[in-house]
Amino acid sequence: MIQLFIPLNFLGFVYREMRRALTDLENMLGLLKRAPRIVDAPDAEPLQVTAGEIAFKNVAFGYRPERATFTDLSFRVAPGQRLAIVGASGAGKSTIARLLYRFYDVDGGSIAIDGQDIRKVTLGSLRRAIAVVPQDTVLFNTSIRANIAYGNPDAPDEAIDRAITMAHLDGFIAALPDGDNTLVGERGLKVSGGEKQRIAIARVLLKGAPILVFDEATSALDSHAEAAILTAMLEVSSGHTSLVIAHRLSTVVDADQILVLDNGQLVEQGSHHELLQRGGRYAQLWAVQQPEPR
Ligand code: ATP
Repeated sequence: MIQLFIPLNFLGFVYREMRRALTDLENMLGLLKRAPRIVDAPDAEPLQVTAGEIAFKNVAFGYRPERATFTDLSFRVAPGQRLAIVGASGAGKSTIARLLYRFYDVDGGSIAIDGQDIRKVTLGSLRRAIAVVPQDTVLFNTSIRANIAYGNPDAPDEAIDRAITMAHLDGFIAALPDGDNTLVGERGLKVSGGEKQRIAIARVLLKGAPILVFDEATSALDSHAEAAILTAMLEVSSGHTSLVIAHRLSTVVDADQILVLDNGQLVEQGSHHELLQRGGRYAQLWAVQQPEPR
């Protein structure tokens, strides 16, 4: 019986490993298959990021021809600036990030980085230049360290350690049973939404891209988790052009520029103080998000 048990047990192990590899692959393909229509133009050149300026010019776009999300959207992010985009659910905030990453092409107008139309540069060079902290981070069934290094598998150990510190993950990792070797993901340790976002921030750091996009998680985070993410975000984005798709106004106060979107229209634009003084849509959103005085 024991002679049979050992090979069967081994076969079970092989089967589980193969299933795991397939799940990881499916996760990755899921990430990649979103926009199969987008391909390089025949004469596409690599994007040269010289300063990091982003310009949306008269952009028109709809997911379906009969329903436009944007009809004429223009704005500019100066090199090294932090731009926050706010607005009600469905206003078009995440669509701006998807268009910049070229998951979809615009129907009219143009998007340029340092003066180069993103439809005329190679997709690979565009996506290497932009690092995204998504709303929901995919964790693979491997160690927490390998999950962080996913942003750049060739990163030297010191770079990974630095990313862990900058993303304020060191305290979290120190408390784990096997430190950074602890397994996470479906079959490992469950990781909270706030911790996942910080893992994503560490990945972004390791990618070393000049343009950063933070698509904030919509789920509620406690104020401690929120403060940790905010600090990590501010440190990581210094010296980069960054775009924050904001669901919580606490993360936009320090932005150089805030765009207020309503139903695909740019209704206000300015700094936090300018917009509060104007007493318009932003001031209303801000008033709603403040805690009731006790
Ligand atoms: P939220 O704060 O809820 O994330 P948002 O401001 O980011 O919202 P978008 O996700 O940009 O809004 O959506 C803008 C509009 O486009 C909405 O009307 C939405 O229903 C629509 N939309 C978004 N994604 C798709 C899609 N894949 N196919 C069709 N319509 C879509």
